[in-house]
Amino acid sequence: MSTMPKLKLYNTMSRTKEVFEPLDPANVRMYVCGPTVYDYAHIGNARPMIVFDVLFRLLRHIYGETNVTYARNITDVDDKINQRAFDRWTRKRPLLAEMRDLTEGTVAQFNKDLKALNVLDPTHTPRATDFVANGEQPMDMVRIIAKLVERGVAYAAEGHVLFSPTEMDKLPGLPRYGALSRRNLDDMLAGARVDVAPYKRDPMDFVLWKPSDPETEPGWNSPWGFGRPGWHIECSAMAGALLGEQFDIHGGGIDLVFPHHENEIAQSCCAFGLDKMASIWMHNGFLQVEGRKMSKSDGNFVTIDELLTTDKFGGRSWPGEVLRLAMLKTHYRQPIDWTVRALEEAEATIYEWSLVGDQQEVGEPDPQVIDALASDINTSFALHRIHQLRSDAAQYPELRPRFNATLELLGIRLRKLETATIETDEFTTTVAPLILEREAARRAKDFAASDRIRDELAAMGIALKDGKDADGNPTTTWEVKR
Ligand SMILES: [Zn+2]
Repeated sequence: MSTMPKLKLYNTMSRTKEVFEPLDPANVRMYVCGPTVYDYAHIGNARPMIVFDVLFRLLRHIYGETNVTYARNITDVDDKINQRAFDRWTRKRPLLAEMRDLTEGTVAQFNKDLKALNVLDPTHTPRATDFVANGEQPMDMVRIIAKLVERGVAYAAEGHVLFSPTEMDKLPGLPRYGALSRRNLDDMLAGARVDVAPYKRDPMDFVLWKPSDPETEPGWNSPWGFGRPGWHIECSAMAGALLGEQFDIHGGGIDLVFPHHENEIAQSCCAFGLDKMASIWMHNGFLQVEGRKMSKSDGNFVTIDELLTTDKFGGRSWPGEVLRLAMLKTHYRQPIDWTVRALEEAEATIYEWSLVGDQQEVGEPDPQVIDALASDINTSFALHRIHQLRSDAAQYPELRPRFNATLELLGIRLRKLETATIETDEFTTTVAPLILEREAARRAKDFAASDRIRDELAAMGIALKDGKDADGNPTTTWEVKR
């Protein structure tokens, strides 16, 4: 552990990169908000899954495999899910059981998607419906809500329970409401649309509990009547039950900063009397598709499953390895543009790497790549470095175990991929050796030989693109001309 680099992570709370100091190095704890399993997950949902999987792998590498606890929840109660469950309900069993059955299918599909993306199973994948009020968990939503009412920051009204940020801000020893999103409660109140809900004292008050109609909506018994939880309280309960009242890292998409994460902080800090819920708040950037916001009406909405198994995107399907690599090329905090072009490039890279790496023999990962990842998960720099490692490993076979281990740290599997115009065998036996030979010529500054091989490859339909890596060494990428 002592030889490991200092891990630095960007904390949305402080808007700076901070040196990460776990509360307990023998149990590093991370929570990431998972999907609402209403339908198949889209490619935007895959981004936090992949980003925080890389962080999970890095934390395990630094602190030890058994010293990291990662919880990623599943939201399996929400109004769209309720409606769907009601629509197919035959009244032969409770509506809750119908809902559970419905979400089993989408959860199974989600797990299948993540397998294809080589995302490791988190330590815990709690489902919200198991943490409402069943009494089996050390902490559940009803108990936390009761605590909030007791402390005077929440109130019951017409079957609802609402949280009051105004009351929270009167209490000492707590964070200020709005600290994460840097919003000021007074400004928020002034700018809030007039909320007509008669049971709210203030427009900024948010729902912890709402009533369910037993005839048409699933629900649980509670001190405030038959009802169901609001979304935000789910994560406070699951994180508290599985990771403890305070933990190290809380992650999710940037769109969750407000109100979801702000409200999680308010609930957890008020219920447990803490000045912070998690030490570091991390958020991945937006994903857009071919330069536009993904939307069903724009026709650029694409699910993970559609990318993997249909020709909806770019007229063909894509292996999970390619999707994962394409995702990691952009730093996680930057917006990412999901394009066919980027997937083609990622595929070419995987192919090129697969000629050298076999992941049979795995050594120690490259220190420079570890440094890059330890610097706020700089995957783009890590991938530049891996290009260099590939060149080195092609020349010196004894470096292959390091190349293999480094790819594994990023969760990048290699496999021989088919290309559109060249058979794999032909590529492996003819094209690949020529690319490597030319690379050696370039390093030796034998430009005549280098040019001759380039022409030879061009005649075979292979276009080369020369560049330099971060250390200034020549690199070559290639693509099949179509
Ligand atoms: Zn959440």
